Amino acid sequence: KKIIIAIDGLSGCGKSSTAKSVAKALNYAYIDSGAMYRAVTLYFLNNHTKLNNIGEISQSLDRVHIDFHLDGNDGSQRILLNGVDVEDEIRGMSVTERVSDVSKIKEVRQALVAKQRILGARKGVVMDGRDIGSVVFPHAELKVFMSANLEVRAARRMKELADRGHSADLEQIRENLAKRDFLDSTRSESPLVKAKDAVEIDTSDLHFEDQVAKILELAKE
Ligand code: C5P
Repeated sequence: KKIIIAIDGLSGCGKSSTAKSVAKALNYAYIDSGAMYRAVTLYFLNNHTKLNNIGEISQSLDRVHIDFHLDGNDGSQRILLNGVDVEDEIRGMSVTERVSDVSKIKEVRQALVAKQRILGARKGVVMDGRDIGSVVFPHAELKVFMSANLEVRAARRMKELADRGHSADLEQIRENLAKRDFLDSTRSESPLVKAKDAVEIDTSDLHFEDQVAKILELAKE
């Protein structure tokens, strides 16, 4: 039986790469909800959308069209913003430093949650984010809440950015992760919380393969 797997947790604790691997092993679709918030943030930045102007926000949201497509080379999933591949651009620091201010806006969340529910309508989906088990799919059959200590997360993020060709500074990454955790957990609209029925996995001392195996095991139950 195909199910919905919701993976939430702190910034940079390996949710996306874990979710991707789990989806691949189960032959499920993987949906990166964070990429959607990042793509909206990029659009707002490019169009100078004022975050305190609800009219401008609604107008911009009407003009944002998000799709995912598969990379012909390695089969990985990439996000399209109005038809343009922005998968690498949304990982840069200018988007990363502003995304939490955009994702706290109610109208932005409403628009993206609606889209996420459509994308997840067919079973056999792994979706990662901050509110997937709590808001987007409160009835998901499996909910995982991932965490890891800040040092481990900063080091992993540093490597990931370097692999994507972004220059990065460890201290700046550490500060950004801590700040996003704070903003994402304390916002009034759908804050990051561990759903009551979520299984918590601390990945600080886990090998990547082991955290994937653990979730695959839970998915079988
Ligand atoms: O997962 P990622 O780090 O790419 O997410 C970027 C930002 O998007 C988070 O820091 C958070 O502010 C926002 N986000 C969210 N809800 C989600 C996914 C991401 O608010 N479901």
